Amino acid sequence: MTPPSEPSNKSETIKILVVDDLPENLRLLQEMLVKQGYNVRFANSGKLAILSLSRFQPDLILLDIMMPDIDGFTVCQQLKANPETENIPVIFMSALDDGTNKVKGFQVGGSDYITKPFIAEEVLARIRYQVSLKSLQQQLQHKNQELIQQNKQLQKAQYETKLLLEATWTIEKSHTLEEAISSILDVICQNIGWDYGEGWLPNPDKDVLEYIPQFKSCSAAFGRFQEQSRLITFASGEGLPGRIWQSHKPEWIEDCSTCSETVYLRTQLVVDAGLKAVFGVPVVESEKLLAILVFYQTQAVPYQSRTVELVQAVATQLSSPLQQAQLKQELQRANLELELLANLDGLTQIANRRHFDYRLQQEWQRMQRLQLPLSLILCDVDYFKRYNDCYGHLAGDDCLVQIAHILYQSIQRAADVVARYGGEEFAIILPYTDTQGAISVAERIHTRVLQQQIPHADSQISPIVTISLGVSSLIPTSTDSPQSLIQLADEALYQAKQSGRNTYAVAPAI
Ligand SMILES: [Mg+2]
Repeated sequence: MTPPSEPSNKSETIKILVVDDLPENLRLLQEMLVKQGYNVRFANSGKLAILSLSRFQPDLILLDIMMPDIDGFTVCQQLKANPETENIPVIFMSALDDGTNKVKGFQVGGSDYITKPFIAEEVLARIRYQVSLKSLQQQLQHKNQELIQQNKQLQKAQYETKLLLEATWTIEKSHTLEEAISSILDVICQNIGWDYGEGWLPNPDKDVLEYIPQFKSCSAAFGRFQEQSRLITFASGEGLPGRIWQSHKPEWIEDCSTCSETVYLRTQLVVDAGLKAVFGVPVVESEKLLAILVFYQTQAVPYQSRTVELVQAVATQLSSPLQQAQLKQELQRANLELELLANLDGLTQIANRRHFDYRLQQEWQRMQRLQLPLSLILCDVDYFKRYNDCYGHLAGDDCLVQIAHILYQSIQRAADVVARYGGEEFAIILPYTDTQGAISVAERIHTRVLQQQIPHADSQISPIVTISLGVSSLIPTSTDSPQSLIQLADEALYQAKQSGRNTYAVAPAI
């Protein structure tokens, strides 16, 4: 690529425009400059010089002052007024060796001044000086751009770090994973200037996402939206949280209030709350989704990659501390379970009364937070005293073990609890279950006990062992207590017994 001949490659690339009305001056300068390897163009008038600049962008201009059409000062002024040519250094050339002209030359933006007749070394030295000065200026500009860019990145990193530190600190202060997520929503909302945040957590069975509200800075305007959202769960692929759960990727909707129900699902609720733009990011640790963070604004906002990247970066950094918070919580729960294991009912090996009380309290609080129904079934072996009298206590114990086993086999979800409530009474706690669901469970149990065909010669209603069941169901509120659910089930059980036993009764809704 490089020509083997002189001049050097470096000066070959430097382009110089020479402007002079005298042909001998042009010839002289051409000889001098081409020998040095410069790429030289000529113009014999100011007009031509300006015209030629549209096709030839020189690195330097040698400009005569005295010319017939437009003088050199005017040409220079025009060049300096044009942003495309203002940075080309101009060296004035003139036979007039007086101070006034030199001063004017610099005033109109000239970089240097050469007097005629030319001294070759002087001309070349001045050209080299201007060319290197220009090159340095360009380098400086370039460096400056780089610094501006680095500074922006640094600011971004500092901002991210600040947000991250704040968020990490809130996780450490939190007692539960839910509390941690609530607080993180606060911190992120404040930092990115969005109006409202919500979190979604997979439930213990990992089949739906449950709602986690923002902790404290939620404005009253969004209160109803929050209340209504508590009642909703999303399965994988459903709505914005469900889609993020499935894809593990962020999603942005410019204006969810105009989305169809199939895309957003809570369209009417966001319309009522006045929320428009929404985006969500997943919190994933080792390919496992821990939570989804969703943010809203009251304005429609087109996709902002910077916001998503920032929040996703923070969410990714938080996944590990969040998982630790979750593990801590699970460990605490496991420890409690272990402790309670020691209190399993010795005879039937299902939960004892103490475990029942604890779990009922726990599920009561959880369903109260989620505003979902909680059901309870109490059941009693019919004429059990007669069974004991007839077959003896050992056979009575064996009968209870069989019934407990049937009950245990009849519940399907990990969150359900079967407990020995006392004597021949059993209790079943059914979270996420409304009256209809609880009736199905009661019917299933009732049928299975009959199918077991345990002989009961002394029963007054059947030759085999039968049970009576009382079902109650409600959505827990803060003004109520688990005791009211027990009382309702107890009344229903009494009802079932009154109506002849071997059946179930349902407490009326309150
Ligand atoms: Mg002249």
